[in-house]
Amino acid sequence: MQIARTLSDLRRARAKLGPSLGFVPTMGALHSGHIALVTAARANGPAAASIFVNPTQFGPNEDFNRYPRTEEEDLAKLEEAGCDLVWLPDVATMYPADGATTITVAGPGARWEGAIRPGHFAGVATVVAKLFGQVQPARAYFGEKDFQQIQVIKRMTSDLLLPVEVVPIPTIREADGLALSSRNRFLSAENRAVAPVLYTNLSSAAAEIAQGKDVSAVLGAAVERLAAAGLRPDYFALVDANSLEPIEKIGTPTRILAAAKLGPIRLLDNIAIS
Ligand code: AMP
Repeated sequence: MQIARTLSDLRRARAKLGPSLGFVPTMGALHSGHIALVTAARANGPAAASIFVNPTQFGPNEDFNRYPRTEEEDLAKLEEAGCDLVWLPDVATMYPADGATTITVAGPGARWEGAIRPGHFAGVATVVAKLFGQVQPARAYFGEKDFQQIQVIKRMTSDLLLPVEVVPIPTIREADGLALSSRNRFLSAENRAVAPVLYTNLSSAAAEIAQGKDVSAVLGAAVERLAAAGLRPDYFALVDANSLEPIEKIGTPTRILAAAKLGPIRLLDNIAIS
């Protein structure tokens, strides 16, 4: 596994990997969800990953300084997964002092996380566009755990005519249904025991809506159950899976998106309606 910490090292290492490179951008603190993306990339040819805790996607009161940084363990996990190249840029490389370009994505980036975390998706879209320019992958793999992020990246890639295929990969979960997340380590034992209730409610709401039950009644009851369990829901919404606009009936591909605070962290999850 080649490790690049400067752009010139990256270019040298990248050149050895041929045109059909798969790429997995991450912020590190890697778990089996990230590794599933690397495994999927690896199945189609050589794979690169990046680790960069991107300051521009954190709000002023968010956890940029406390975000877990576990580089040594991350590199061991990537090596074991068969990753061919790891890109570890520093902030000055990603954001030169005279930088003047930010990419904002309206449409799928406007609601939900976009409304609650102003600037978050601009930070994500800008850093991913830069990473695509540096790594020049043919395909990039993203987790459905961050479903809205995938739609934002797809739109950005298509709007900017970037020659990268965006590949979504299903969410990896704990045995009790909790979606793996680098921030789960900050859950107290008590909150960890409660956290799976988000996915339990997504699953039951998806089943009830698929059976034809009244959508707003189902969503309202789920929010009440989450609150009763001690979560503070930000949203629990039925959306068109492409536009992410709220809908009242299923028809086109449909998703339920949910976010809720639990103690000091926010849980984010979603489910498809079949
Ligand atoms: P992050 O390091 O949180 O920026 O995530 C890097 C990538 O891993 C993103 O594409 C995430 O959607 C994906 N990811 C995070 N958690 C999971 C999970 N539990 N299952 C699948 N992919 C995930």
